[in-house]
Amino acid sequence: MTVVERPVRLDLLGANDETIEDAVGHADSMVLRALLYQLTGDADLTAIELKKVKVGRIETVAFANEADVAMLRRKASDFLKSYRDSGVGAIGYGPRERLPESMSLLVGHPIKDEALDLMIEELALDPWARSLTWKAKPDSKRLEDFTITIIGAGMGGLNAALQLKRAGIRYSVIEKNPGVGGTWYENRYPGARVDTPSRAYMNIFGVDFPYPYTYGTHEENQKYFDWVADRFDLRDNITFNTEVRSLTWDEKDAMWVIVVSGPEGERTLRSNAVISGVGFLNRPNMPSIAGMESFEGRSWHTARWPAETDIRGKRIAVIGTGCTGYQLVPELAREASHVTVFQRTPQWITPVPGYTSKIPPQTLWLDRNLPLHANFMRFRSFYGAGPDFTKIFEIDPDFDDPYTCNAANKASRDASIAFLNSKLCDPKLVEAMTPNHPPWSARPVIVDPEYCILDALLRDNVTLVTNGIDRIDRTGIVAGDGTRHDVDIIVYATGFRAHDFLYPMKITGRDGKALEELWADDGARAYRGCMVAGFPNLWMLYGPNTNGGLPVSQFHEMTTVYLMQCIERLILDGKRCVEVKDDAYWRYNRLIDELNAKKIWADPRAHNYWWSKHGRTVSQIPFTGYEVRDMLLRPDFADLEIR
Ligand code: NAP
Repeated sequence: MTVVERPVRLDLLGANDETIEDAVGHADSMVLRALLYQLTGDADLTAIELKKVKVGRIETVAFANEADVAMLRRKASDFLKSYRDSGVGAIGYGPRERLPESMSLLVGHPIKDEALDLMIEELALDPWARSLTWKAKPDSKRLEDFTITIIGAGMGGLNAALQLKRAGIRYSVIEKNPGVGGTWYENRYPGARVDTPSRAYMNIFGVDFPYPYTYGTHEENQKYFDWVADRFDLRDNITFNTEVRSLTWDEKDAMWVIVVSGPEGERTLRSNAVISGVGFLNRPNMPSIAGMESFEGRSWHTARWPAETDIRGKRIAVIGTGCTGYQLVPELAREASHVTVFQRTPQWITPVPGYTSKIPPQTLWLDRNLPLHANFMRFRSFYGAGPDFTKIFEIDPDFDDPYTCNAANKASRDASIAFLNSKLCDPKLVEAMTPNHPPWSARPVIVDPEYCILDALLRDNVTLVTNGIDRIDRTGIVAGDGTRHDVDIIVYATGFRAHDFLYPMKITGRDGKALEELWADDGARAYRGCMVAGFPNLWMLYGPNTNGGLPVSQFHEMTTVYLMQCIERLILDGKRCVEVKDDAYWRYNRLIDELNAKKIWADPRAHNYWWSKHGRTVSQIPFTGYEVRDMLLRPDFADLEIR
């Protein structure tokens, strides 16, 4: 395990006893117990009685007795005071063999063996656990000659750039926007916020980044990506305002020919390999609605929110009610004179207490000053509902219920309906907001129970329209029942072209094969989410069938380790290209389709981007996080042709 360079704990050096005790009083007891046990091995911490509690929808455990909480806080305060008095020097993190027990103490049950490696990585004690360690020293000439182009400086592209830089491999990044951040650079609509806890959403090397919210706003996420680019000095290798138009494989030279378009027009680059870091929720999906071009007010897609827009006193129509629409409407309703929400399909809503709240300053103080606090908090966020959580995605053939697919799924639906009832108190509105599809067959929407889409719908200045859109005209929208809704602004919260992976780039592989053609019959596919047969030295960081098993940064990190091991083989063995074999590509894809057919996204009541018109999913992965880790950290070179 790498010894980690930590920020100097300056606050602690100057802290008085009251500050320490106040901060410790805000600590999560389970986290405090685990890290203190890891640091000290104090056996008193292992024999503490626990009780079951619910945090939001998640069933977890907490200390059963206040006396034990007081004992723990006393021990933690004493530890910090004595650490302060000793001068806050370098500190050991306890033996590695103790980690499984410490982490098990945190979650209140033994962590399964199969989960341990993943969970220890997620503790982020080693921020470079998902980096390449060369198996042998590479030949400097071969290393110098090998170049990689990364498309996109979002979360995935930045990590790939950083890892290549650390490995000494030459790379350059082409980014269409003027700044880094990808999705978070583009999605600046009011209310935009991540729905995975930030501590688990960001990279393992970002564990010490100060997150002011448990769930980051788009501004905070943007700050994180700017921090990554600056902290690791990545900007010099990024060409901004430049878009990749096409990639063409040159078999003779084993190079990709890359046409890019930027401020100085089109130009052509060449590199040995290409890594696509473009997201699949990236290109806006603009609907085709009769008359939309005749509208004389302003209109835009949520991912193109104009800077400096003043919505105060405006009449606004929002078309689309996925995660984006449900996040946006309550914020618009605070300032607009009227918001008309056009909903075709309602979404399941999951209330998470504190979803929009800031992290208390005492907790942030602990992140900075209590050794291992940020690490164990990250692990707690990642572990979430536990390793068996993905079972909620499985269709249980023996489960008999008209609305849901398994017992956990029914519990989730019942809780959501109870929340709808408690908020709306109006059976008609509850009915309008109750989806037909089972929960988890589409992305559920996390909301803050204090103020969310349901509160917005109860406001006098918000109207919900559920009978469709007949047409748009000069002054507004005519609904399916002929009712007019005149507005100043139309916002399209209509999602993304999620099935058009790598769109609109033209990608031509070996023997002149177009990627578009290969995927035309039954949608986008990839081997292990990242490689395509006939397209050598090309990897996608969040390609087809990657969504669901792991949070996105973990997927990016593991895919980057996978592809770097492939590149390592090329450089060490003096080879020119690596490509997945046709039979391995199809074997993997048959398995993916077979397993996905038993998942909840295959439910016929679900109509969303998790299922495609081809009768399969191109976005979802049927594997657990451990299976994904195994598949990506250990390439099966027998499946690859290296020449
Ligand atoms: P989305 O889930 O695809 O929702 C698009 C919405 O637009 C749906 O309500 C859809 O209705 C509607 N729509 C599409 N075409 C339409 C048309 N022609 N007429 C009327 N309505 C139309 O898109 P999204 O809300 O932008 O979310 C996309 C994904 O981004 C999410 O699933 C999530 O992964 C991510 N996201 C995450 C967060 C977060 O982290 N909190 C926030 C926002 C987005 P139908 O359902 O009837 O098709």
